[in-house]
Amino acid sequence: MLIYNTYTRQKEEFKPIEENKVKMYICGPTVYNYVHIGNARPVLFFDLVHRYFNYLGYEVDYVSNVTDVDDKIINRAIEEEVTEAEIAKKYLEYFLECNQLLNALPFNKMPKVTENMEEMIDFIHALVERGYAYAVEGDVYFRIDKVREYGQLSGKRIEELEVGARIAEDSKKENPLDFVLWKKTDKGITWDSPWGAGRPGWHTECVVMIQKEFKGKIDIHGGGTDLQFPHHENEIAQSLCMHGHSIANYWMHVGRLGLNNEKMSKSLGNVINVKDLIEKIDANAFRLFMLSVHYRQPINYTEENIQLAMKEWQKIKTTFNQLHLKLDVAEALDVKEEKVDAIAALMQQFTDALEDDFNTSNAITSLYGVVKEVNKMMRAKVSEGAYKYALMTLQNMTYIFGFDLKKKRLTSEERDLFKSWEAARKAKDFTQADALRERLQALNVI
Ligand SMILES: [Zn+2]
Repeated sequence: MLIYNTYTRQKEEFKPIEENKVKMYICGPTVYNYVHIGNARPVLFFDLVHRYFNYLGYEVDYVSNVTDVDDKIINRAIEEEVTEAEIAKKYLEYFLECNQLLNALPFNKMPKVTENMEEMIDFIHALVERGYAYAVEGDVYFRIDKVREYGQLSGKRIEELEVGARIAEDSKKENPLDFVLWKKTDKGITWDSPWGAGRPGWHTECVVMIQKEFKGKIDIHGGGTDLQFPHHENEIAQSLCMHGHSIANYWMHVGRLGLNNEKMSKSLGNVINVKDLIEKIDANAFRLFMLSVHYRQPINYTEENIQLAMKEWQKIKTTFNQLHLKLDVAEALDVKEEKVDAIAALMQQFTDALEDDFNTSNAITSLYGVVKEVNKMMRAKVSEGAYKYALMTLQNMTYIFGFDLKKKRLTSEERDLFKSWEAARKAKDFTQADALRERLQALNVI
């Protein structure tokens, strides 16, 4: 399997640290507002990665942090006149609910900043003791001059960054690029530390949590492209100093989601919350849309694109349900699968696409190919074993893509309706066929 590694800027063969295991970490939410569909892109993509490794037989240890202390949370708490903990709880619940509605597999662990404060203070303290960080008037900064590789992940040159940073220079810093590890403050919730009351900086969180949860280097560290710099660069800098490694063997970054070719942001007022959207459209169609573009490319959300995904999703669902109808008897008889060469070839193309840096766009083309092939099989009336083979293939594909296709038990009335619909289509009685299709769709059979 090839994975594009941002750190080395090339596709590399995936080799797990431990056989049959994948240690994967993604930067989680700062829980101060409702997650929007742009935030859902990394969640959905890494869910596919998780599922594909599961399909291949790997055991995936999947961890994501929760930033439950942050200036934005404190400001929101002041605004809503509640505690920071209440804000964090409310928006974390919303995040988890959205993940569930999107049929994302749960994380194995979700460590919170507030529950790892001692470890973070110890870590910062150790950086100061070793000379990688320094304290000034209650703040602690990381000394980026200590890291020769600084800029490697994001492809930035320190000299250029320094010019930019000097404009907004903080006189307390030795170097304008030094970043904050501990911030002195008396606003909102604070913790005691060797440098006085304050709060830790964001960049230390993930380094500390990864070390705590995985006890060493991990396979995959992921997040959105916008986290490459400075967040991930700063994570790596701290880890190189303290642990002598760059945290992960593969750094994966997911491109942005735009809305009608514009950046989606609160200030532009064009934010779509996840729950609001999937109350209106099938979560599966949303998933299909989100995975229809390669993860490293930007994706553009438009009404037209989502309508198209809904139509395509309808075709997949109908085919799936038709196969189930064909197999009602076959399953009872425990029919043996009979390989269908055309479908086997499409499954091969499907996995080949995913093995090539998770090319979901090409994988979806293979999935559509199977739908087409099944429709051909229906017209040709093949054996039940062949239907079963097609169904198993479709089930594997839809599992990997995370579509929620629970087998629907049909009532005898629904089955009769379906048979009448097939008969009407065969007899080319289109008026009747259309009427029956509408009724079947209303019953969610097709
Ligand atoms: Zn992080």
